[in-house]
Amino acid sequence: MTNTYDCCVLGSGIAGAASAMVLARLGLDVLVVEAGQHPRFAIGESLVPTTTLGLDYLARTYGIPELRQISHYPWMTESQLTGWPKLGFWFGHHRAGHPLEAGREMMFITPGLPMGPDVHMLREDVDSFLVARLADYGVEYRDRTSIADWQVGAKRDSLVLEREGQRRSVHARFVLDCSGHASVLAKMQNLRDSATRLRTNTRAVFSHFRGVRFLEEVLGQPCGRFGTRRDAGTIHHCFHGGWFWIIRFDSGICSVGVVLDRRLHPDNNVKAEDEFWSYVDRFPTVREQLGGAVPTRPIVKSGRLQFTSHRIFGERYLLAPHVASFVDPLFSTGMDLTTVFIARMAPVLASLAKGGDLP
Ligand SMILES: Cc1cc2nc3c(=O)[nH]c(=O)nc-3n(C[C@H](O)[C@H](O)[C@H](O)COP(=O)(O)OP(=O)(O)OC[C@H]3O[C@@H](n4cnc5c(N)ncnc54)[C@H](O)[C@@H]3O)c2cc1C
Repeated sequence: MTNTYDCCVLGSGIAGAASAMVLARLGLDVLVVEAGQHPRFAIGESLVPTTTLGLDYLARTYGIPELRQISHYPWMTESQLTGWPKLGFWFGHHRAGHPLEAGREMMFITPGLPMGPDVHMLREDVDSFLVARLADYGVEYRDRTSIADWQVGAKRDSLVLEREGQRRSVHARFVLDCSGHASVLAKMQNLRDSATRLRTNTRAVFSHFRGVRFLEEVLGQPCGRFGTRRDAGTIHHCFHGGWFWIIRFDSGICSVGVVLDRRLHPDNNVKAEDEFWSYVDRFPTVREQLGGAVPTRPIVKSGRLQFTSHRIFGERYLLAPHVASFVDPLFSTGMDLTTVFIARMAPVLASLAKGGDLP
């Protein structure tokens, strides 16, 4: 087992696993270090057209069929991944205490074949699937491992990794932080802004549920004018200062959450579960759709979702998008930024690792 790598990737979510595959395809020796263990719950389950195209681009450019498999429903089912063919975004605007009023809905249809359709992906499945393929790309993977120390050296960084009390030193020319919201390096290097200047100011309360009714059935009228069923898209129930997402999967599970503007809906230390159902109860149509649903895991709530960093790269380290900052979940662009990041980052890092200059 070597202890010198071109790149050490921290975190094995979709960003870490896909980055590692691409860097390995570019000839780098890559180590992926994951603090947890797959399968594990992750948020970020709805693709948009540019994410699908981004995954296609990476799959074709670097010969990584798995990235196409996770973004196209027929291949997802072939690979036994839990997903849903997503045909668009549905938005309804609700007033508290009133059923959804006529004309207060719209649907944005996204491209079908050959570019789309997009998918909903159960990240638990998809992330495990990618991680299980890392070895095929020559990537070394260490789970249940954290960083005990990190020293920036003249030519290489030295990292002390810890797994179940055992320590191991490794060296890497570059460290790529893909640890998501945990932002390991950003925190170690104090790169996070103490007060973000972002104007969005939201929090979320969410879980996975069984027994979410189809909206088409709740509204009792097929929506012919959109050319497709509302439930074929990601559902956004919007209201003053907030919105619910409903992301359906073919397993019968739905990811459901409510995003709240903290200025209008401050966190008053109510239990996550009570708060979630209290918002459901305010909107009769939402209550009809979600009232009988049962969470399959605990309902949790976040603090403020927004954060920013004053630096995103430094002497041989680089932060992935969801490590560096987060603006808001509305419009589902998190993984889109990740694919764009990988496409731009990988050739640069590969050239530098081989002693070249910026391409
Ligand atoms: C409420 C909400 C809804 C969202 N909805 C969408 C959506 O619909 N569509 C979309 O595209 N994006 C969405 N996003 C954004 C999306 O979640 C992220 O873009 C995406 O999950 C990022 O993936 P990732 O691999 O960077 O991070 P993650 O999936 O968070 O993976 C990070 C990994 O790092 C590991 N890790 C943590 N600490 C350490 C450590 N110290 N050492 C090593 N490993 C570590 C974790 O265990 C984890 O496996 C949403 C975000 C939020 C907050």
